[in-house]
Amino acid sequence: MLTYGDCILYVKKVYDALNGQINHIAPAIRLALTEPNPDVAKKIEVVGSQCMLYIEIRLDSVFEKFNYLKLTDNEIRGGLLFIVAHELSHCNQKIIPNRHTDIEYVRYIEYSNNVNTINYLYKYEDILKEYLGPYEVPDIALQAYYLQRNYYNGEQIIFPYISSVKEKVLDGLSIITKEDVYDTKYPLVNNINMEVYIQNRMHKSFNIIRNKQLTIEPIDIIKMSQFIARGIYDYSGYSTISGDTYTACINLNSAPVYNVTVLR
Ligand SMILES: [Zn+2]
Repeated sequence: MLTYGDCILYVKKVYDALNGQINHIAPAIRLALTEPNPDVAKKIEVVGSQCMLYIEIRLDSVFEKFNYLKLTDNEIRGGLLFIVAHELSHCNQKIIPNRHTDIEYVRYIEYSNNVNTINYLYKYEDILKEYLGPYEVPDIALQAYYLQRNYYNGEQIIFPYISSVKEKVLDGLSIITKEDVYDTKYPLVNNINMEVYIQNRMHKSFNIIRNKQLTIEPIDIIKMSQFIARGIYDYSGYSTISGDTYTACINLNSAPVYNVTVLR
């Protein structure tokens, strides 16, 4: 019987094997295991999430669910593999910012991502089994995919690829400021900075784009992701433009609450 600790190790092993492969354009920077909030996580049944290049797996919820369903060890491994692969695949996916309330769009993003994930796992099944040992992706992990497939009823759905890490970061920034930050919208912008305030007092400022080149440090990409990631920060975002420099500002309404166990 797989223990909770075995599952943590397995998730790390899967992440190491797949990161930069299924998401070759935009490798993830960090995998985090989130302690589920009993009031929220279980109700909405979120098992994993992806934000920019940051992946969270709610392993407690997954483990409890899999235990409850009396899955075999092979099925637990297959389920964990599918969840991690699904979240990593999102890193490579072009997700238009600020359309998360558009149900049709979210359905399309999730379905095309599931198709991409399943195709990848199928294509590399032999190599994965050689490296990870035996596993079996259980039906419960594929439930959302089956529903989406019925909905699209054979329609050809194309997985939309991101063009670069820079685009992924700017899309993340667009979520933070709630406006689209693109070269086309601001052709004269050469530099993009970010300023973080805590209760209106300057906390940190950093550079994202310098002379149109991505210069942000990985640690700051993680911070940006965490601003967006559900439940970590309560913030408001806005932007200013001065000359050829766009500055995204976020004001945290309270000090950050870290409810995340960071693995890497
Ligand atoms: Zn998803």
